[in-house]
Amino acid sequence: MDKPSLLDLPAPAEMRDWATEQGILILAHSYQEGFLQDAAHFVGDSLELARKAAAEQAEAICFCGVHFMAETAKILSPQAEVIVPDLEAGCSLADSCRAEDLRQYQKFLTGKLGRRPTTVAYVNCSAAVKALADVICTSGNAGKVVDSIEPEQPILFVPDMHLGAWLNEVSGREMILWNGTCMVHELFSVETLQALQAEHEGSVTMAHPECPKNIRDLSDHVLGTAGMLRLVKASEGKTFIVATEGNMIYRFQKEAPQNTYIPAPGASCACNLCPHMQRNTPEKLWEALQSRQPQVDVPAEFIEPARQALERMLAIS
Ligand code: SF4
Repeated sequence: MDKPSLLDLPAPAEMRDWATEQGILILAHSYQEGFLQDAAHFVGDSLELARKAAAEQAEAICFCGVHFMAETAKILSPQAEVIVPDLEAGCSLADSCRAEDLRQYQKFLTGKLGRRPTTVAYVNCSAAVKALADVICTSGNAGKVVDSIEPEQPILFVPDMHLGAWLNEVSGREMILWNGTCMVHELFSVETLQALQAEHEGSVTMAHPECPKNIRDLSDHVLGTAGMLRLVKASEGKTFIVATEGNMIYRFQKEAPQNTYIPAPGASCACNLCPHMQRNTPEKLWEALQSRQPQVDVPAEFIEPARQALERMLAIS
């Protein structure tokens, strides 16, 4: 098939209508570029989208996001074909925690502590890692998930060390933290953030909990993307400085246009976009819809234990 150019493509709404006729549900993460968000039937965070896919009982899903998100959709909707625009769209955070390393570390800690720690896995991890976890969490429900575990029970939190450190701060726990990070949230510039705050007096700063402590401490609110969206929708005429992936601003402007949004820039350049998310383009989406390729699969042995860990989270939150 010839590679389409942007000029050859249907408009986002036409693409969505075409997908509907073909029985394909398009899901887009909030960190995707505007065209992909506009073409989607639903936009949300990874878990909202996976739950949506399961609730819709779709026969085919085209997931505009990164690999672990498509895997999560497959775990919750094993009957569905899960198509992605680019199979190489990965995640630095998910890559930082390999299942074999986690298995070894769980074994080591069990010997050291004299009992098996409860493994809490942030949803940004592979299906193989989810299958080794006792329970999954998102940035929105992580506090509740951690609080549901007996205080004396040791916890291993994977893979994001900044989210884990923030949870330790707010819960008073001393969870053992894996040392993974998100390459986007780790690189916001403290100096530029302080300069923006000085320039925009009265502004409100929101930071994602994947940001390091120095950025969180400068922020008025530490929130996951769903929490950020709730806050901006409930606000009127405010200026928000936003320390999360830059495409989130598109969603804020669309759903809460009454406020002003200023993206916090990264330390090394003015850009705060995830290079993995950016692998997905309108052209690749259109090709994937037509060919129903490439698809993401999850080995059968991971599906059931990973689904149980996800369902434990859903029962808690
Ligand atoms: S923004 Fe960070 S956590 Fe999200 S997909 Fe990109 S690298 Fe992974």
